[in-house]
This record gives sequence, structure tokens and C-alpha cells, in this order.
Amino acid sequence: MTTYNHNLNQYNANLFAVHDEILRFVWENTPKKGLPPISVRPEEGRFLQILARMCGASQALEIGTLGGYSAIWIARGLLPGGQLITIEKDAYHAEIARRHFEAAGLQSSVEVRVGEAVEILPELSAGQPFDFVFIDADKPNYEHYYDWAIEHVRIGGVITAHNAFRGGAVLQSNPSDEATRNVQALNRRVAADTRVLSTIYPAGDGTLVALKVRD
Ligand code: SAH
Ligand code: MG
Repeated sequence: MTTYNHNLNQYNANLFAVHDEILRFVWENTPKKGLPPISVRPEEGRFLQILARMCGASQALEIGTLGGYSAIWIARGLLPGGQLITIEKDAYHAEIARRHFEAAGLQSSVEVRVGEAVEILPELSAGQPFDFVFIDADKPNYEHYYDWAIEHVRIGGVITAHNAFRGGAVLQSNPSDEATRNVQALNRRVAADTRVLSTIYPAGDGTLVALKVRD
């Protein structure tokens, strides 16, 4: 009997979430450029990449680009010719991310849309359905983003949302932090949603994973 813990997480990360030159550069350069150090962990990025490929994703969406670290993992999981649209409200973050996508040779497969996600999502509604969605911004709208995603992801597609644990604060029965209440609400909602098979991947800050199995 073993218990997943920090050392085992590091063992996993060191073996399977190894940075190449590009990922190391983006990981280090993002905080260096003054962006907050809130990118997903390497082992979380690796997991997103695998999920994207497991569901055969060609069309992917990310909400919350920051410096583009998670986007690079996701884009590298897409089928050849796949496209990732990533939404970022902060023009400076978007500019740094675009530079990182160029450095990664991903400028033609990753498109950054600058603006509030709630305003950009309707522009994407008419396009092709998405295969993979990663939600990682703006906790007050987490439920809204999930509701949008479940309508615009094909059956067999995957919706993910970061910070499902909120650093452990989701264990509180009445958290004072509003974002934690938002995340708890989404976790409960997804757990009860019969359209999906869902769980939380427990590495890092927890990633909510919902595989759409019916409309
Ligand atoms: N996914 C990134 C981290 C994202 S951090 C990674 O792991 O590498 C969250 C990002 O979402 C920040 O850059 C922030 O500016 C952006 N953001 C916050 N609220 C937003 C909103 N309402 N619409 C679009 N982007 C938003
Ligand atoms: Mg996050």
C-alpha cells in the first residue's frame, strides 16, 4: 500500500514530464517577464498533452493563456494539423505567449484570441465542435465556461479545468474565498453531470477531467 505524496509526484514528474529546451525556456521566461508564476506544473502539462492525444483532438480550446506554457503541452498533443485556440484577456500576456509559440515553432497551430473569454466564446460557437477544452482562468465564470464547453465538445471529447483543489481549500465547508466556492460548485456540478465521466487528476493543484459520453 502506498500513498501518493510529494516525493512520488516528483518521481513521476522527473521521469515523465521532462522539459525540452523550449519548455524550459518558456517555464523560466514567463515569470522573468513579470507574469505570475501560476502556469500548470510540468506533470500537469504532460497529462493535458496525453489527454488531448487520447481523445484524438484536432480542435482544442484553452481559456487562460498566460505565457503559453500549458498551451505548448496541449498543442504538442494534437493530431498533425490540429489547431489550438487560446483565449487571454491581458494583451501583454498574449504578446509574451505569441513569442513563446513562435520559439516553439507553433505559430501556425496556436491562435491567441485577446479579450474576455465570455465575449470571445460566442464568436467560436459557429465553428467546428471542439475535441478538447482546458479551462484555467477567471474562477467566477468556471461554471459558465463548462456549460459552454459541454455544448461545443463532441461526444468522446474531453473538458478539463485547472485548480480543482485550490491548494486544498476545497476541503473547507464554507470557504471565505469566492474563487474556491466557484471551483467547489463546478466540481459538484461535473460530478453530478450524467453526460460525462469525470474525476480529478490529483497532481499539482488538481485537474478536473470530464469525458463527454452523451449529449
Ligand atoms: N494556462 C496557463 C495559466 C493561465 S493563468 C498555463 O498553465 O500556462 C490565467 C490567465 O487567464 C491569466 O493570464 C489571465 O490574464 C487570464 N484571464 C483571467 N481572466 C480572464 C478572462 N475573463 N478572460 C480571458 N482570460 C482571462
Ligand atoms: Mg491554474
